[in-house]
Amino acid sequence: MDYKQYITIVEDWPQEGIRFKDITTLMQNGTAYKRAVEELAVYAKEKQADVIVGPEARGFVVGCPIATELEIGFVPVRKKGKLPREVIEANYGLEYGKDCLTIHKDSIQPGQRVVITDDLLATGGTIEATAKMVEQLGGKVVGIAFLIELAYIGGRDKLKQYDLFSLMSYE
Ligand code: IMP
Repeated sequence: MDYKQYITIVEDWPQEGIRFKDITTLMQNGTAYKRAVEELAVYAKEKQADVIVGPEARGFVVGCPIATELEIGFVPVRKKGKLPREVIEANYGLEYGKDCLTIHKDSIQPGQRVVITDDLLATGGTIEATAKMVEQLGGKVVGIAFLIELAYIGGRDKLKQYDLFSLMSYE
């Protein structure tokens, strides 16, 4: 399926010079959304994932339906101050800004095979921070799945030690 036809490119949002890839128009199309999730679920299954981990908020949009499709758990990664129990945290840089991510300390069991999901790979900062926390908890990052990769930003270089899969790439 040509998924790119369902992505809307928004010029100069949220800042001048950014060409924002809006996935909400893909989500609005039930068939495209379902097929995209199914393809990423096949990847996660091949990687024999025990659990899916995704950063808020669009990582949930991608990761939760993959987890239910495979009947495995989903672990949310959230901005600091949002998770109610004991967390570990990691600081990271965004394509446009900086932030701190957290994950519940008891959410990953040592040795668990983890596939991380997000909507989009830009600099790789969000996923690098997420992967570090998963590893700190003893999980093994066996794969990382995206809807979109912005190849021209080069986030893949930051994530060299991991297996990456993306449905769409923008050069
Ligand atoms: P990274 O950490 O630089 O790889 O940025 C990826 C994160 O920023 C993802 O969680 C995305 O949701 C968000 N992001 C950055 N650029 C875009 C975009 O063009 N469209 C949608 N999300 C974006």
